[in-house]
Amino acid sequence: MALGRHIDVDKLMGECKDHRAYKHSHEEVDMVDIPYASRYDHKQEVPRYRMPQDGVGADVVYQILHDELMLDGNPNMNLASFVHTWVPPQCEKLMMENLNKNLVDQDEYPAAQDIHDRCISMISHLWHSPAGSSIGTATTGSSEAIMLGGLALKRKWQERMKKAGKDIHNPGPNIVMGAEAQVALEKFARYFEVEGRLVPVTKESNYVMDPKEAIKCVDENTIGIFVILGSTYTGVFENVQEMSDLLDEYEKKTGVSIPIHVDGASGGFVAPFAYPDYVWDFKIPRVHSINASGHKYGLSTVGVGWIIWRTPDHLPKDLIFELHYLGETDYSFNLNFSRPAHPILSQMFNFLNLGFEGYRRVNHNDLAKARILSRALEGSGYFTILSNVHIPKAVGERGNWGDGDAEYYMEGLPVVSFRFTDEFRKQNPNLQQSWTQSQLRNYGWIVPNYPLPPACEDVEILRVVIRESFSGDLLRKLVEDILATTESLLKDQGPSYQMSHGAGKPKSKAKHSELDKKAIAGNHNSNANVC
Ligand SMILES: *Cc1c(COP(=O)(O)O)cnc(C)c1O
Repeated sequence: MALGRHIDVDKLMGECKDHRAYKHSHEEVDMVDIPYASRYDHKQEVPRYRMPQDGVGADVVYQILHDELMLDGNPNMNLASFVHTWVPPQCEKLMMENLNKNLVDQDEYPAAQDIHDRCISMISHLWHSPAGSSIGTATTGSSEAIMLGGLALKRKWQERMKKAGKDIHNPGPNIVMGAEAQVALEKFARYFEVEGRLVPVTKESNYVMDPKEAIKCVDENTIGIFVILGSTYTGVFENVQEMSDLLDEYEKKTGVSIPIHVDGASGGFVAPFAYPDYVWDFKIPRVHSINASGHKYGLSTVGVGWIIWRTPDHLPKDLIFELHYLGETDYSFNLNFSRPAHPILSQMFNFLNLGFEGYRRVNHNDLAKARILSRALEGSGYFTILSNVHIPKAVGERGNWGDGDAEYYMEGLPVVSFRFTDEFRKQNPNLQQSWTQSQLRNYGWIVPNYPLPPACEDVEILRVVIRESFSGDLLRKLVEDILATTESLLKDQGPSYQMSHGAGKPKSKAKHSELDKKAIAGNHNSNANVC
């Protein structure tokens, strides 16, 4: 409401209150801020912005926070997020039982540590690490994993340059990545003082980094290339094999060997199961390290990621800390010290409970739903699809395979990115695609609308991430609601609608918000440049 912008709500509400003394007991009571006041024997106001002087009973606190959190969106209808939102009750029980364990206390909790180490072993095997020789660690998510992966590349490059007697400060290190990179990758560049070279993406490159363009950005100061398995915009995989082949050629020509770190935040737990013949992992010798988010398609609860290095030699020694306690020595190579053990337990629960075949079924299921949604949106005539998992590869006769056979379709994440067709936009020039986002929110759906990466940012997309907890019934309901929303927009695109929804250019919640772009453009220390 427009009024809210000018009026201080707290002040207004304060002025609405009568005298606060409670006549009979002479105690000050503000009935407003005590939910279920007549049930709980609680007489003290609960302040919003300061810690209360005296504590508040646990049942009252629970009720206040429980009710407030109901204002959040429903995680299962949050189709914006890659992060998994459901685990079976037995997994919840296991996590609750171990909520009080700190993973860093390796001596005190050797069993939790052992489960962590076995997760590393299982993931290394899944990613075809050479003869099980890999080394890795749990992280809080892919962001921490990417910081570590990038840092290892930087240190290794410094070692190489020093050995060759070359300057490591002038012009300094750079790292190459697609312009569609998730913000964590650009953060690595900025935080660790490496020039980020963003390879522009185009419609022709499917809005992901084209290795042929990336190779033009490398030189002897390139510490590595971040290759992204699964764009957050469209779910499209970058081509790790082609990137590696081009780097082989480059090495032959120049003698400079540039490693690859694969950002498999989402794809690392999709590709092995959905596309077992697709080559992207440690099978490619130039892949030095890989990260993935356990809490995305690893199907764990939020708070776990992984990074694995090809061999211990690929992890610089000075990133490894020895921890001495209780007379024993442990090793640590992550950014956080303390971290909860329970997300790692939830990871192991899923590995054991689902097994390879279970993960495969979940992935096929997600991908089949992504295909059905893509075809339904396309079939409506209102939308064009920018993601690719519904597009069959040219293999054999159509009809010999079904939606359960992911390998007959283009590789990608179970993501549907879509926008109004050009035709539709021409016929309805005043209709903002972003209104679909706010209209769908009224039905409870969270479907973001945001611009494509730099150089393509005049195109806005709506994006739906399909996860395990998205049932066929919900899929049907989503299609119904998207169509109803679009049709109601078509009907009501007059001024009254525009007034209630704010006319003019919508504010988008893109990764590169206006603020971000200004900060990057105006910041001479910025480490992200379009190359
Ligand atoms: C989600 C994501 C990240 C960041 O991962 P978190 O687990 O959220 O820290 C990095 N890269 C890509 C491609 C992602 O999808």
